[in-house]
Amino acid sequence: MSVLGELTALEDQGEFIRRHIGPTPGEVASMLATIGCTDLEEMTARTVPAAIRGMDFSGLPSPVNEAAAIAELRALSERNIRKRSLIGMGYHGTHTPPVILRNILENPGWYTAYTPYQAEIAQGRLEALVNFQTLITDLTGLPVAGASLLDEGTAAAEAVTLAHSAHKAKSDTLVVAADCHPQTIAVVQVRAEPVGIRVVLAEPAQLAATIAAEKPFAVLTQYPGTTGALRDITPEIEAAHAAGALTIVAADLLALTLVTPPGEMGADIVVGSSQRFGVPLGYGGPHAGYMAVRDALKRSMPGRLVGVSIDAAGAPAMRLALQTREQHIRREKATSNICTAQVLLAVMASMYAVWHGPEGLKRIARRVALQARVLAGASRFPLRHGAFFDTICLETGAETDAVMQAALDAGFNLRRVGTDAVALALDETVTRAELATLAGILGQGDLATVTPKGGLPATLARTTGFLKAEVFNSHHAEHSMLRYMKRLEDKDVALNRSMIPLGSCTMKLNATAEMIPVTFPGFADIHPFAPVNQAEGYIAMIRQLEEWLCRVTGFAAVSLQPNAGSQGEYAGLLAIRAYHQARGEGHRNICLIPSSAHGTNPASAVMAGMKVVVTGCDRDGNVDVEDLRAKAKQHGPNLAALMVTYPSTHGVFEEAIREICAIIHAEGGQVYMDGANMNAQVGLTSPASIGADVCHLNLHKTFCIPHGGGGPGVGPIGVAAHLAPHLPNHPLVAEAGPATGFGPVSAAPFGSAAILPISYAYIRMMGGEGLTRATQVAILNANYMAARLRDHFPILYRGGQGMVAHECILDCRGFQQNGGVLVEDIAKRLQDYGFHAPTMSWPVTGTLMVEPTESETKSELDRFCDAMISIRAEIRAVEQGRMDRADNPLKNAPHTMAEVMASEWAHPYSREQAAFPLPYVRMNKYWPPVKRVDNVHGDRNLICTCAPLEAYAETATLQAAE
Ligand SMILES: *Cc1c(COP(=O)(O)O)cnc(C)c1O
Repeated sequence: MSVLGELTALEDQGEFIRRHIGPTPGEVASMLATIGCTDLEEMTARTVPAAIRGMDFSGLPSPVNEAAAIAELRALSERNIRKRSLIGMGYHGTHTPPVILRNILENPGWYTAYTPYQAEIAQGRLEALVNFQTLITDLTGLPVAGASLLDEGTAAAEAVTLAHSAHKAKSDTLVVAADCHPQTIAVVQVRAEPVGIRVVLAEPAQLAATIAAEKPFAVLTQYPGTTGALRDITPEIEAAHAAGALTIVAADLLALTLVTPPGEMGADIVVGSSQRFGVPLGYGGPHAGYMAVRDALKRSMPGRLVGVSIDAAGAPAMRLALQTREQHIRREKATSNICTAQVLLAVMASMYAVWHGPEGLKRIARRVALQARVLAGASRFPLRHGAFFDTICLETGAETDAVMQAALDAGFNLRRVGTDAVALALDETVTRAELATLAGILGQGDLATVTPKGGLPATLARTTGFLKAEVFNSHHAEHSMLRYMKRLEDKDVALNRSMIPLGSCTMKLNATAEMIPVTFPGFADIHPFAPVNQAEGYIAMIRQLEEWLCRVTGFAAVSLQPNAGSQGEYAGLLAIRAYHQARGEGHRNICLIPSSAHGTNPASAVMAGMKVVVTGCDRDGNVDVEDLRAKAKQHGPNLAALMVTYPSTHGVFEEAIREICAIIHAEGGQVYMDGANMNAQVGLTSPASIGADVCHLNLHKTFCIPHGGGGPGVGPIGVAAHLAPHLPNHPLVAEAGPATGFGPVSAAPFGSAAILPISYAYIRMMGGEGLTRATQVAILNANYMAARLRDHFPILYRGGQGMVAHECILDCRGFQQNGGVLVEDIAKRLQDYGFHAPTMSWPVTGTLMVEPTESETKSELDRFCDAMISIRAEIRAVEQGRMDRADNPLKNAPHTMAEVMASEWAHPYSREQAAFPLPYVRMNKYWPPVKRVDNVHGDRNLICTCAPLEAYAETATLQAAE
């Protein structure tokens, strides 16, 4: 071997592939034998229809190892130029408290957790989310807040559609104050048009008159305004109510610590961003948006809401409340399509409030307010608004360019307002020296001699307290904070504990090497509206990732802007809509959706102004082609699109997919592919090769972004060339999309840009060959589990040659009749074995859908299969009458430590069987912190904020005694 050849071999650039993929080559061989295949190629041939095989992966890189990928991303991050950005517009510098940075944002115990649908093993993050909801309700002055929305712009848009459907008088007009953030206005306009909402912009001074004249269903205002004006919004709220309209206020959380909260002024809905509570700028996201509402609107609120209920022993326990509002239940009648939200970021913001407490937050707010007043006093330019919180707007006139340039030279990005004014938004990161520099640029640099000017009007001063709950007043010492976060983390099951085999959710490895670049300062500290020439590293990374995703999907163009799968669906359907309109076929509005589709599909179609027509599925879970053909024909000239998931939601590569696409195209419709199951396709086939026109990918599934306990996510869309001119764009950043695009679907130009390095690193370290092998091993792992479990559980749905794709469905419906055992009992019993349940009752009620992913090792797959087989034996004991039908380990699951260790034990099975059902559990026991949570009780007695927990304990005991 040549020296270079020898070096190449020893450098082992493909090393990461072996770290990402769980089974060793030897294990792959034995697993192949178990499923009766000779090699991965034969397995693939028996799984993926030949008609759609064939991929050109030549454009993908060859793999590099972890060190090289990190170095490459560090170099990219260093091409971004970090200035102090005082641009504001809803994005502010903030210090992420180091204790939160390391122990939440950089901690897999928090970032690898799943959405808290299995409440008993998610009590830690549910508590953090109740803290978030409490933070939002306290600051906004409204009684109910959800556990995060995607960003401020979409939160405002969600509030608009909420108000539209809640409004009785059926007006279709929305009045928007012209001093809302421009990206918020743009997102709202995009959202409004397809559903027939007319948006009327009005200058603040004209608001009351416009409201009286237009009789809108709602009014949207910003508080303080986008250039900093702090005005009393009571008159416009009163004008709105007099006209029968609802009021939506987009508010700055830090300002609300000092000024009268909109809820106290009569606002119906308050929305905004929690970014400045310790979440890095990250070029625009991910950050948690928020929404708070009046009590009467809580049942129409979009997204997840955490509520306090009780468990089977009557102890307080939290879980997701009022889920019947959500898309997975209500589908086309849902209030919103939101699924993945921004849980990790909401947790960070809540912890920032826990860390600083009400007094700390007020101090930070007072400091930035004083900084703003100092600069106002130092400035030789007149103030546009005398009343402000942290943002001043200066009439710089002919000197505007000179001021902007002087600031830039000194290291500051200011905001240019029109042609003759400049705005500066102060934040907690601005130092005394920086303040002096800025004061010097504006006029008077000696801070000691400056007389502060303007500021908060006394009439708007906040008079009510906030964050009185104990949790916000207890953990200000670092040891206490550290232990509080650890205590919550330990209550939860995340990927750092055991596999989370959630069908459709693809809980694969989130490698540490992929996560490290996220907090590189060069990525973390960039403002989304900084001059693009300061974001060259980001743009280069984004363009490269787009190109790779084009290769993976076979499509011509990609937009990374949508910040969840649901948002990708919506964006993709808007692209289809714009395409039809551009061809003079804007009347096409029928969207065919198979009954097995994910709930986000119909919910997104409705948001895109389409009418949903549901098509059937056959006995094997496949699309009923004849029904589809008939409905496509029936709606022919009005057919806009088909939404189809591939492989099907039942985990099968349907043979008919090409034909299905052809049927739609023949009628002039477009095919939207839901790419949630992309992990079964990468490298083997592609959305373009099956015949789709557009698809979304969930980078938080297939491309390794962690789920964060329910977000963040990234849901980019790929489109064929004819749809490329109709991708999203952004009013403030031309690079974000084509000039011919339909507008933004996210507040930030590139959505959740700060987490894109994760997917970049994954593709870079796997290369084309690694990605293909990952897909094959994902399919192998699923078929191996199906083979191990098939004698114990009926496996629903297989392809023509008896194979499943990357997931398999275990039928648990038979156990109810014989033993009264429900699928939920199995899911809860798995917690006693230390596992998170597979996807429950979706897409088929009474089943479990298992998706192991390629990252799980054979021993972990075996451990899970052993648990399932052991549970099957317990079910059999009930079926055969050897165990009591009501009092058995399944019905009583999960078992808590307090219960198993108690002096009393009244069950007919042993404590050992309750807690240590298999030997391995003994070695590494996870104790669920609560017993089974009572959902009905919680929805009947809705509590969504934290009073001291003792208070719940008392009501719970009272009610249990009733
Ligand atoms: C996860 C998923 C979605 C929604 O994605 P979010 O990022 O949660 O909005 C849509 N369709 C399918 C099939 C999914 O599994």
